[in-house]
Amino acid sequence: MNADPGDAYDALIEFLYRAPIGLLQTTLSGEITMINPMSAQLLMPFVPDGNLLNLFDALDAAAPQLRRLAAEAECGLVCEGLCVEQRASGERNHQLPRFLSIRILKLAGGTLFASVGDITSAVRHETQRLDLERGVSRTDALTGLPNRAVAMERIARAIARPAGDGAHRFAVMLVDCDRFDRVNVTLGAHVGDELLRLVGERLNAALRRGDGADSDAHGAPVAARLASDQFVLVLQCMGEVDEARGIAQRVVDALARPFSIGEALVHITASVGVVLREPAGGNAEEVLLEASIAMHEAKRAGGARYGIFQPGMKQRASQRGALETDLRRAIAEDQLFVVYQPIVSLADVGCAGVEALVRWQHPQRGELLPGAFLPLAEEIGLMVPIGERVLAQACSALRGWQQLPGHGRLSGSVNISATQLHAPGLVDGVHTMLLSTGIAPATLVLEVPEAVLLRDGEPAVAVLQRLHELGVRLAVDDFGAGYSSLSYPGRLPVDVVKLDRSLIAHADTDADPAMLGVVVAWARRLGLPVLVKGVETAGQWAALQRLGCRLAQGFLFAEPLRTGQVPALLAVGYPASAVPRTPTG
Ligand code: C2E
Ligand code: MG
Repeated sequence: MNADPGDAYDALIEFLYRAPIGLLQTTLSGEITMINPMSAQLLMPFVPDGNLLNLFDALDAAAPQLRRLAAEAECGLVCEGLCVEQRASGERNHQLPRFLSIRILKLAGGTLFASVGDITSAVRHETQRLDLERGVSRTDALTGLPNRAVAMERIARAIARPAGDGAHRFAVMLVDCDRFDRVNVTLGAHVGDELLRLVGERLNAALRRGDGADSDAHGAPVAARLASDQFVLVLQCMGEVDEARGIAQRVVDALARPFSIGEALVHITASVGVVLREPAGGNAEEVLLEASIAMHEAKRAGGARYGIFQPGMKQRASQRGALETDLRRAIAEDQLFVVYQPIVSLADVGCAGVEALVRWQHPQRGELLPGAFLPLAEEIGLMVPIGERVLAQACSALRGWQQLPGHGRLSGSVNISATQLHAPGLVDGVHTMLLSTGIAPATLVLEVPEAVLLRDGEPAVAVLQRLHELGVRLAVDDFGAGYSSLSYPGRLPVDVVKLDRSLIAHADTDADPAMLGVVVAWARRLGLPVLVKGVETAGQWAALQRLGCRLAQGFLFAEPLRTGQVPALLAVGYPASAVPRTPTG
């Protein structure tokens, strides 16, 4: 039995009429000739007077282009997925907008078929997702501060502000924590993370104290995290340079106060590079680079301070950049070498040991002293590889010299800087070197500057303890150069005290070199040998003899020697002409 086609048609019409999507038929000018209930429901809010007679009239405010599109279109699709926003009016305008998707088909006779769908929830969902994504990509996850992208936008905005617009300068302050990596290494990354979070809070607090009071017109001051332990402050409305100085100092002070994290009180400091400028062009990266140059100058001056960018800094920075490139090449191409300065036993004027001192044979500038490149090496993370090379060369040379008759106990001293001391592999590296060269551990002396021990306290002592357990000897170098404490070496695993050159400088003219005498007597009470460096004159040598010092080093005895020169010196000893064997005075 065949079904009646008329029944099927009626069923389809009924189906479409009840469909959960709006369907309607209009004339070419938009007059509605057929409409299902869902269409009416969706379109009614567009016609507050309730006269839903013409589709284009109803949507005129939300989609004014529809009438023209329909008139101009050939047969087929007039529009597909056109999104129209329906905003509530009058009392209901606090309601969220709704969104409809419109599709219109044009038939040959000019009749239009339209479908209308409610896509409000899909649009809201997508908007939320995009907002979230945008928020995440603009927020630093660890500190919750705005991230680099926001900071760069703010700087760019500050640069682009019209001149003469209110307070006319802006400031960018780059804040970099000093020796932050040490916190991670000694206290763990979780403490480091918490510390960064607290640093962010303090920076925000420092900004909240009224800076940029008229900031509404120009954007509030912002603290953002750039990367790692670097933050940036962007202040749009700055007055005179004193105002910027005041804020920068406040930031330095805020970060110098100890941070309480769990059981620990963590001390750090920060260096701040300040750029204070008028909105006179340039780009944000350039401004940040200038702030970074000023920050590095502040760091080189000892950290825990701010520096204000001056144009001359740029040239110095580019010279340093060139030196950095050269130094990296120098390491790769083995341009660094070690010289050895004899350490003299004053009792018999014999060579008790040698101190290894690094040199750089620069292809254009000739032989460079450590002062010309080690500070940079420390800063850019090359001190550890350089130190490893010096240690390896010194240990291997020492082993050779110890095999010469009568020199089996010759000692070799190697300097260890702050970054080397805290580098994770130091103790293992020294151990490996002792094993591979076979030198007796007690013949290797590691010299650590007193300033490092005073500054770094317990973490430094812990490393010294481990080194001492290997059997190597430890020397406090440059003792008495600054504010010394005569109490601490007694508590440290220290075997030798090397006095700073300043203590001996006037020993020959000074009838009573008081400080020198006090230090030598004190060391003797602790049973520590004192080594005096920088002995240049016979008078200084005589003063040391009177004080009963046992070890000395200085140009009077020998300048640092090339590796090949050391055996000759060991064989013949010091020429009598060079050393006044009978103390004068
Ligand atoms: P330092 O450990 O105090 O080394 C002694 C420095 O004094 C050497 O300078 C030496 O050449 C110089 N000197 C020796 N006798 C005299 C003297 O009678 N009068 C004067 N005026 N100077 C004298 P140098 O080689 O320029 O080294 C400077 C500093 O660089 C060293 O001071 C040390 O702290 C550091 N250094 C050198 N080599 C290394 C190294 O391989 N690793 C590390 N970490 N530091 C090193
Ligand atoms: Mg030294």
